[in-house]
This record gives sequence, structure tokens and C-alpha cells, in this order.
Amino acid sequence: MRSLLKLIFVLIFSTGLSAQNPSVDIEKYSFGIELSDNDDIISGTTDIHYKLRSATDSIVLDLVMMDEAGKGMKVDSILSGGKILKFKQYNEKLAIVNPQDTSALKIYYHGVPKDGLIISKNKYGDRTFFGDNWPNRAHNWLPVIDHPSDKAFVDFKVTVPSHYQVVANGRLKELSNLESGEVYYHYSSEVALPTKVMVIGVAEFAVQHLEEIQDIPVSSWVYRENKEAGFYDYAQAKKVLEYFIEKIGPYPYSKLANVQSTTRFGGMENASNIFYFENSVTGKRESEFLIAHEIAHQWFGDSASETDWSHLWLSEGFATYLTDLYAEDTYGKAKLDEKLKDERDQVIAFSKKSNTPVVDSSRTNYIELLNANSYEKGAWTLHMLRRKIGDENFWSSIRQYYQKYKLSNASTEDLKNVFEEVSGQDLDAFFRQWVLQYGHPVIKSDWSYKRKTIQLTIEQLQENNFNFPLQIKFHYKDGTSEIKDLEISEKAENFEFRSDKKPVKIELDPETNLLFEEAGA
Ligand SMILES: [Zn+2]
Repeated sequence: MRSLLKLIFVLIFSTGLSAQNPSVDIEKYSFGIELSDNDDIISGTTDIHYKLRSATDSIVLDLVMMDEAGKGMKVDSILSGGKILKFKQYNEKLAIVNPQDTSALKIYYHGVPKDGLIISKNKYGDRTFFGDNWPNRAHNWLPVIDHPSDKAFVDFKVTVPSHYQVVANGRLKELSNLESGEVYYHYSSEVALPTKVMVIGVAEFAVQHLEEIQDIPVSSWVYRENKEAGFYDYAQAKKVLEYFIEKIGPYPYSKLANVQSTTRFGGMENASNIFYFENSVTGKRESEFLIAHEIAHQWFGDSASETDWSHLWLSEGFATYLTDLYAEDTYGKAKLDEKLKDERDQVIAFSKKSNTPVVDSSRTNYIELLNANSYEKGAWTLHMLRRKIGDENFWSSIRQYYQKYKLSNASTEDLKNVFEEVSGQDLDAFFRQWVLQYGHPVIKSDWSYKRKTIQLTIEQLQENNFNFPLQIKFHYKDGTSEIKDLEISEKAENFEFRSDKKPVKIELDPETNLLFEEAGA
């Protein structure tokens, strides 16, 4: 995702730990949801199909219980195998006692969502409903195991007043007018998804069906007031989708819907229906890189997901760097360099506030992981890997990693193993210094020219010593220049180069290949 106001989120949300229930594996959720214009109460009927990995006398799901103010969800009854089951709600949990049938449950509940399903008005004053689950906020409105490692198939069966349209994950299987005057939408996902990207969007949309890209239907869902501008802007998704399919492999889902929405994030990579913030539509195609970021997530984050939040860079670093690569392919190397320099500045700025590594298991408020380590340093790590093993090995590794972990979960170690296998290189030290330890090289350089020799000193000023390749460019008075490749491993190293000409200046990392900070710069 891309957030607009990362820092404010940190203050607003404090997320609890979700149930990682080792004895239960959810196979499928079928969420029946009724929405109305009279109030913000949702009525839910959830069918859950699951497998028991080991015997248990209770199943614990995540669901925020109703508080005294009436916010949260109240479970009315639970059925299994035709019998009514006992249950207990406490805080953010729902414990179901002695499930009779060992494979299916039906939960009836209702309430006003505290969060997770954002019921509000859009900028035109029209009422809208948008799911907004990241990281583990789905259990504010859906009874789930709210962790990316327990993926499940999902159906949404949504009943709404007839002036709305509904978008949700997967394929539309039914759209019916009901006797009540309401409309009923049934969407079904053909593959298992993590709860963080299971959503519905309900609004008065204008919908455009674009041509298919490699058999994937692409559509734009925008507010009716934004029809012309929105259709124009979101049509850029077609070329982005085509680029990523060509580079990574087949798209994981049955459709791609790009949806203007009213939530809290700038963009959210909900599987097969991406939500973008209201003002992503301008009629000037200013959201191309946001669209690229969220589409890249369909492979990385949604399909190949992190095993746990501490490996979030496998989502966000990938989406960030794949957007950089799309930018390079579309606009050239100068655009890539511009983006990388901006990302490097963000990593450096973040390092002044936090000395945490990219893989950071110290956080319990996962919103705090939406930081420059997960996004920009993750992207830089991939960029340096690409330079280290070459473009061919890089893309081959990306494809193999995706093939191996699609519709599943991976850790940083899993990624490293694939890159090592493909490149034949030992990448232990590389991953240790860039993602497992904090910091980056802070380089001080000094040079002099005597007796036709350039004497160069390179010092690392940061705490942890790094090993890295460093390019140096000597600029001469006559306008010519020369690049030298160095390997740096010591705290301080001296180099000598024969040269008939005295340089007028030296430049570190002229090709934008290294994440570093220039001391005194
Ligand atoms: Zn993202």
C-alpha cells in the first residue's frame, strides 16, 4: 500500500496481536453482508470451512466485540452440523466451544464496525462503504483468523440498496434484484487470499470495462462525478499490467478492477480490486506510479505474501522497486536514478530517527512498519542485488521466487535461498548487512594528486562495517572523465591511480548503484 499520512496512522492505531491458531486452518470464508442507508449497522452471516490440524475443544477467531457504545460486532448465534454452539466473545476474540461438525461453522452477527469497513461520505457527499483491512483490521467487521499466513478462499454475498454498485475480490457470479427492492451481488475468489486484502467496495460508481490484457478483464470503478477523468486516468493500468505479466509471469487473479475509494490509505493492493484514494483521479494521469505500485503488489504481497509482518519488505520493497523498474522501462534510466536518489534520501532521513533493521520483529503496532526501511530500503536492497548478480539472474530469481511462493508465504530467508540458487553466489553477508542489521555506509572520501598519481582514501564512519562495491568518477578539466571500480571492506582504505591529468573533482557512485550517505554532504 501507499499511505498518505504515515505518521498520523502511527498515532491513531494500536493494533492487537491476531490469533495465529495452530490447530485450525481456514479453507474458505463465505461472508454474507447486508448494508443499509438507515444506519451503519451491518448484518453478517459467515460460513467458515476449515480443517483441524490437531484435536481441539475450541476454535478461536478474531472478531472485535461490541462495546458499551454499540461499536463492534455482537455474535447472535453459531451453528455447526445443525446444532447451536456455545461461544464466548472477549475483547477481539470469538471462542467457539466444542464445534460439533469438524469442518464447517455458520456465524450470525451484527454491529457497527469500529474500523475495517469504512462507512463514510466521499468528497461529493455520497455515502460509501469500503473495506480497509491492512494489516489486521479485517476482524473489525469479519470473523476471521486475521493473519497473512492463513490464506483462504473467499466469497462475498452483499445485499445493498439498489442505487449502489458493489465490487469485491474475484469473479462476479450473481447480480440480482431482490423482492425487497435491494440488489444482491455474489463475488467469488478462485484462489486463496490473505485477510488483509479481502474487501468490498460499495458506492454509486461509474464502471468502465476495458479490453482484456492477456485474458485478464481490466475495469475502472470511479465516482460518477469523476467519470471522464477517472476512466482516462485508470486506463493506464492496462500497460502496467502488461509490463508486469511479461516480466514476472501470469497475473494471479481473474480480474483487475481499479477502484476510486474513500479510505485511509493512498492506495491499497486489495486482491484483484485495488483501492486508490479519492484524489488519485485528476484527469492528468498523475497516479501512474501509484497504480504500478499497487498492481505489482498483486504478485508480491497478495499472492506471494510475507510469512509474518516483520518481513513486510517482501511486499513493500518489491512494490516500490518494481515500480522503479516500470519507470525505467517506460521513461529511461534517468527516471530510475531520480526515483532511487529520492528513495535513498528517505532511507537516510529515517535512519536518523530509528536504528532498526529492515527485518524488524520488534514492532507490535504493525502500522509502524510502514516506514522507509520496508519501502525504500527494501527497494534499494533489490536494486543492489540486481547490480550484484546482473539483470538476467535478477529477473530469473524474481520469477523463480514468485513461482515457488505464489498463493503462499515466504520469508527473507526463502528469498535469499532462491537468489543464491539462481546466481550461484553466497549472499549471506549481503542479506545480513542490508536487511538483518541496521544502518548503511556513511562514506568519507579524501584525495590528492602528486607525481602523476591520484591518492584516494575511503573511510566508513558508521557503526557496522559494510562490504560493498563503490564506483568513483574522476572528472578532468578538459571535460573528460573516468570511472574506477573499487571493493570496500575495511574501515579505512587507501587507493592509488596513475593519471597524467589532475582531476578537478571526484564523484562517488556516479551511476546510482549504492545505498550510502556521503559524510558532510
Ligand atoms: Zn504498498
